[in-house]
Amino acid sequence: MTTVDSRTPEALADAERWTAHNYHPLPVVIADAEGAWVTDVDGRRYLDFLAGYSALNFGHRHPALIAAAHAQLDRVTLTSRAFVHDQFATFCRGLAELCDKDLVLPMNTGAEAVETAIKVARKWGYQVKGVPDGRANIIVAENNFHGRTTTIVSFSTDPDARDDFGPYTPGFTIVPYGDLDALTAAIDEHTVAVLLEPIQGEAGVLVPPAGYLAGIRAACTDRNVLMIADEIQSGLGRTGRTFAIEHEGVVPDMYVLGKALGGGIVPVSAVAANRDVLGVLKPGEHGSTFGGNPLACAVGAEVVKLLRTGDFQERSAKLGQRLHEGLAEIGGVRAVRGRGLWAGVDIDPGLMTGRQACERLAERGVLVKDTHGSTIRLAPPLVITEEEIDLALGKIGEVLSARTS
Ligand SMILES: *Cc1c(COP(=O)(O)O)cnc(C)c1O
Repeated sequence: MTTVDSRTPEALADAERWTAHNYHPLPVVIADAEGAWVTDVDGRRYLDFLAGYSALNFGHRHPALIAAAHAQLDRVTLTSRAFVHDQFATFCRGLAELCDKDLVLPMNTGAEAVETAIKVARKWGYQVKGVPDGRANIIVAENNFHGRTTTIVSFSTDPDARDDFGPYTPGFTIVPYGDLDALTAAIDEHTVAVLLEPIQGEAGVLVPPAGYLAGIRAACTDRNVLMIADEIQSGLGRTGRTFAIEHEGVVPDMYVLGKALGGGIVPVSAVAANRDVLGVLKPGEHGSTFGGNPLACAVGAEVVKLLRTGDFQERSAKLGQRLHEGLAEIGGVRAVRGRGLWAGVDIDPGLMTGRQACERLAERGVLVKDTHGSTIRLAPPLVITEEEIDLALGKIGEVLSARTS
């Protein structure tokens, strides 16, 4: 795929020479980007059908987000939470209103927001629910993905994520995803929360059976357990609604947000909940040097503004239908799951692996990423056009019909 005077091979070798090999990137070296497109160091253009795993829901360098970041860079970028800054309340109020919750706690990465939700749920369990000290448990689902910290990998069922990173944090009960009876049977008097993805992204964009999330909501209310929705990947317009859990008409006790909240510019994450839950935290009990910094808040507030119009959610719903219908018609596609502009595509394993499909798509100018085995995950930016979707569908069709390329 590269010509003799290509800058790509050297750039790839350099990147590999100087880094821990905790990723296996596709052989593409990106130099700049705009909207749904990226350009590599050799000037080749690619349609970005991964969008930073949904961190780029508004596309690369959305003008409104870049303008907000530029303006803030010229004023103040970091204060720490030792002081209050003038972007803080704007962002937190906007996000609280978007979530229809009383309070927001801003952090940076998704994993930190998940950790925050776990700590809040435990504290709520001891202080409000009256669970005996040290006995709180949280129910999670098999094949979950909630991040990479030692506590979070303690309840992962993916051997790559978990093995050799013990000893593991206790206090988690793992149940099969999508099985309401198994989940409700796992609730005991010490259960403080159910933590799950309303659609499992990393597992292959798995949509649970209808009624599952509503059933969990009812069980949580009934047994005085917090329902925590990790919407880091599924939220903020990705599925055609602001939150994926809305498709089931369910309101969780805590939203965990990240990825697109930072507009593809800075890491911004947050937990949103009502005062009876988030109010358990007192000064000194939790925090982050960078969480809720002025630059993050300026960008995050603009993200909230973009979402408030509902245009992105509508685009995702409408164009998602085109994407899903198009994928279903491609030979070699075994199954398509997902909602909106988000699809897990199982390709016939007899044709090629997911990795091979991604490599061949990259050669044809479309960037996607495999998840497990023969599944590829599509999550284009929500600014994508119908023509660009059709272009990508055409390339996917080409790759799957060319058995050996
Ligand atoms: C990406 C992701 C996380 C972790 O976010 P980081 O910013 O990578 O720490 C957690 N939960 C879900 C559902 C995710 O997709």
